[in-house]
Amino acid sequence: MELYIHIPFCSRKCEYCSFVSFPQSENRIPEYLETVLMEAEQRIREVTEPFTSVYIGGGTPSLILPSLLDSFIHHLKVILPLESIQEFTIESNPGTLTEDFIRTCIALGINRFSLGMQSADNGILKNLGRIHSYADVINSVRLLNQLNVNNYNLDLMFGIPSQTMEIWTDTLNKAISLKPAHISAYGLIPEEGTPLFRALQSGVTSLPSPDLERDMYDTALTMLEKAGYRQYEISNFARENRECIHNIGYWDQTPYMGLGVSAASMQIIGKTENGLNCVRKTNPETLDGYMLLVKNHESDRLHTDFISPEEARFETMMLALRMNRGISESRFFDLHRIHIDDCYGPSLKKMEENGLMIHQDASWKLTRRGMDIQNSILLDFMDYRG
Ligand code: SF4
Repeated sequence: MELYIHIPFCSRKCEYCSFVSFPQSENRIPEYLETVLMEAEQRIREVTEPFTSVYIGGGTPSLILPSLLDSFIHHLKVILPLESIQEFTIESNPGTLTEDFIRTCIALGINRFSLGMQSADNGILKNLGRIHSYADVINSVRLLNQLNVNNYNLDLMFGIPSQTMEIWTDTLNKAISLKPAHISAYGLIPEEGTPLFRALQSGVTSLPSPDLERDMYDTALTMLEKAGYRQYEISNFARENRECIHNIGYWDQTPYMGLGVSAASMQIIGKTENGLNCVRKTNPETLDGYMLLVKNHESDRLHTDFISPEEARFETMMLALRMNRGISESRFFDLHRIHIDDCYGPSLKKMEENGLMIHQDASWKLTRRGMDIQNSILLDFMDYRG
């Protein structure tokens, strides 16, 4: 099982942000962390096996005071089985990461950091509403290196208003020169309700053209591969053995528990001849709604969706095809007790003929062209849901 903990606080809200995060106008972190511990206690019955990875995401987890983080994780370890953890990640904002915070994390067994660098261009960072500068990124990486942390990720973003190819290649070069173990490169998706979306709607700003955005992605593939980063998922690149275990577990449909505001959980409730029966639970999206639910001891009344064997098979395709290794026939059979050909055979064949998928080593994978149009490929699988 995997564990995700959501910390929904940020210094201020970025212009493009659609994550569940709230600007820190008053310090609600101590009360929030206490509530997360209560939630963990209330949901202990859902834990069927020791956790193998933990991911503290947000929001901005590096806003938590080191002494508070220390006491939170110590309490969490008493409640949940965390003794078999292989990977323990914490997300950090380069504008808030301190030496004291990193030292505390190391002492607690946190062995992976993920930094929201986004760009090396200070003008772009400012337009995005980020609180940090490129100098803060350099400083954060210097601190990590000084403290012998070598497993860290840098998040980068392309397709940003006013971002040229020159700015993007400069960001890639600077990120590579910082020698992270892992790089994530995401295309910006303007989400409705964000200030950026409104600015785009009103014509105050505009996105790079789709062709330029596609070129930016291609450039990232070429430059990162040349620098020794192997792509293992659409947006993720790693040095050898530095792939993110937690995220791979998610794409592999490993059961997970999510604690905190808006966090989702997935449990397998049964494997029958017909395949997997799963449930997905989601915590309330508002801080007060979440706090109230937990304080009233109603964590067992989370919003629950039942996932039928048919939906679980489609999710396997949707998640596994994000990864370069694709989906192996044996893995599909182990999960669903049905051969992949009996579910999606006609669709897979058609895509192979059209050069969108390849069948290799008893696995199905998307080709480079297939990756580009992954969404329409998934629609095809939806039509063929077996
Ligand atoms: S730091 Fe991340 S979570 Fe926080 S507001 Fe910015 S984009 Fe959203």
